[in-house]
Amino acid sequence: MKDKFRHKNILHWDDERNIDNSLIVSLIHGMRFDTQEANNVHVMGFDTVVEAMSAVRKAIKCDCVACLKEGNKLNGQK
Ligand SMILES: [Zn+2]
Repeated sequence: MKDKFRHKNILHWDDERNIDNSLIVSLIHGMRFDTQEANNVHVMGFDTVVEAMSAVRKAIKCDCVACLKEGNKLNGQK
């Protein structure tokens, strides 16, 4: 799979399916996956690109402590 999947919500896209793992998708700071399974899910594994992109598109804003902290770092604050 040569294609790089790009979306404004994606921080990191890691395709580890060739080593029997999953597609690991990390969202940018300030966004999280909209899932009932856990709170504040910023990184998730998927079996298919379709599933991954669907979840990425449905990502919601996150204002958890970690996101706020990272956001502040990016803005040059401490
Ligand atoms: Zn967060």
